[in-house]
Amino acid sequence: MEFAGSFPDPKVRLAPALPEVAFVGRSNVGKSSLINRVLGRKGLARVSQTPGKTTLLNVYRLPGLYLVDLPGYGFAKASKPERAAYRRLLERYLRERETLAGVVWLLDIRHEPSADDAEMGALLAATGVPVLPVLTKGDKLAHGARGRRARELGRALGAPAEPPLVTSSTTGLGIADLGASILAAVPGGGPNP
Ligand code: GDP
Repeated sequence: MEFAGSFPDPKVRLAPALPEVAFVGRSNVGKSSLINRVLGRKGLARVSQTPGKTTLLNVYRLPGLYLVDLPGYGFAKASKPERAAYRRLLERYLRERETLAGVVWLLDIRHEPSADDAEMGALLAATGVPVLPVLTKGDKLAHGARGRRARELGRALGAPAEPPLVTSSTTGLGIADLGASILAAVPGGGPNP
């Protein structure tokens, strides 16, 4: 695994060409922490990125795939032009990225989906890209409450059949399952047999 770079252009060509899985979520949802956990590294993906830095894709290369850290959305202080720039970046990335195999969409297990989350959900649905909803900060709830919230949020997201995967970057809950789901999303992904 290595850091492959930060790219402002959603159509950037990466070499070698590999399928990619992108992570997206509201700012502060725990995306950087989760990516670090999935990559098995401490402090590689920058935790708590500076608000307003909304135009970069951070790319990590894994065996057989790229993991793309998309900028967080929903900064309370983001200006209108910043929000518009973010939306343009995301929309172009989701619609035009031929190598995109799927999106891991992060939601905080404790919160109801926000208006920004709903907007992201609509955009993801409209682009038709495969989406894996994943709940973060599962350690903040006790075991029983975790399952209940996952089912509630699954219904709220319109996917009641299978509650979203619950993860915690603090305890490692769900990280192995998330890693397996990412590899499963990618044709030929994962280490060579
Ligand atoms: P990002 O803005 O989405 O990249 O979120 P960060 O990874 O920077 O995390 C935002 C805050 O949530 C930080 O204070 C983290 O320490 C905290 N955090 C992230 N993941 C977890 C988690 O699994 N459990 C708990 N309890 N806190 C977390």
